[in-house]
Amino acid sequence: MNWEDNVRKVVPYVAGEQPQKNGIIKLNTNECPYPPSPLVESRIKELEYQNLRLYPEFPEKSKLYDTLVSYHGVGREQIFIGVGSDDVLSMAFLTFFNSDMPILFPDITYSFYDVWAEVYGIPYETKPLDDDFRIRKEDYLGANGGVIFPNPNAPTGVLMDIDEVEEIIRANQDVVVIVDEAYIDFGGTSALPLITKYDNLLIVRTFSKSRAMAGARIGYAIGNEKLIGYLNDVKYSVNSYTMNHMALELGVASMEDEAYFKEICGRIIATRERTERELTALGFTFPKSYGNFIFASHSSVQAGEIFEELKKCDIYVRFWNKPRIDNYLRITIGTDEQMDALFEALKKILAVRI
Ligand SMILES: *Cc1c(COP(=O)(O)O)cnc(C)c1O
Repeated sequence: MNWEDNVRKVVPYVAGEQPQKNGIIKLNTNECPYPPSPLVESRIKELEYQNLRLYPEFPEKSKLYDTLVSYHGVGREQIFIGVGSDDVLSMAFLTFFNSDMPILFPDITYSFYDVWAEVYGIPYETKPLDDDFRIRKEDYLGANGGVIFPNPNAPTGVLMDIDEVEEIIRANQDVVVIVDEAYIDFGGTSALPLITKYDNLLIVRTFSKSRAMAGARIGYAIGNEKLIGYLNDVKYSVNSYTMNHMALELGVASMEDEAYFKEICGRIIATRERTERELTALGFTFPKSYGNFIFASHSSVQAGEIFEELKKCDIYVRFWNKPRIDNYLRITIGTDEQMDALFEALKKILAVRI
């Protein structure tokens, strides 16, 4: 007998690289290329450092909570706040996926889902996307222990029609369905209005992408009071003080600047449309994306090779050496200047290979 026999062994999630070097064009982790709202900057200066002496307020007692309640027009007990949506999703897996039946999610999706299932010992089954990288709703209509998928999906950017989302929720009213809306602000239709109709639906959102606040770690879930109640019971059985005082304050400042939020989302959508045209001209194909990224494959040069060559030019994109997606690059939409640098680098890389 060795102490290692009783260790919980997991293969952890691998996030995109965060290079320490300056001057990198970072298009690999779907961060926003623009700064957070200027209101966030001024709020940082107003933060009272003395407050760090105290435990933070509980999320439900915070101004961020009230702000989210009124912003989304939901009831007082319908929101759960966590340390990024990763924390919210992890707590939701632990709370709601407690059946002997397998939970279902796509084979190509956010690569944290199978990690949480493994670490919590939740049985799961992945369902293959079709050849156009669409989620096949038929695969989610049978008996299961729960369903989770991002809409739009990651890393493909493909958006599922809201009627199909509803069909999946309707067919699964005996389990919890989680819709991960990390990228919903870039042009998709949210399933949020459906929470009044289905008490088994949990919507998860984040400040990391469309609010340019990945470093603040703010995510939240919206659902019916009962769902949120169960989520809080589990969360308060793990760690009471998840959200730090500063994140709670800065999140409010971001929510108070709706005009800026709309502006940066609009800019990213415009740059995404321009990127679609440029990439097409360079010989890339990709599914229509509703995220702040494009999942692209080149007609004649291997993705892995382009990935390495771009890295030499200090341009980082994301590449997975995994079945079905090993000839694709996930390219985050940066500023127009960053994308111009990408197009120039791609032209040079491709010119000597085709
Ligand atoms: C980025 C991302 C998340 C996690 O974001 P947080 O920074 O933890 O809020 C969750 N789901 C998907 C699909 C994502 O792409």
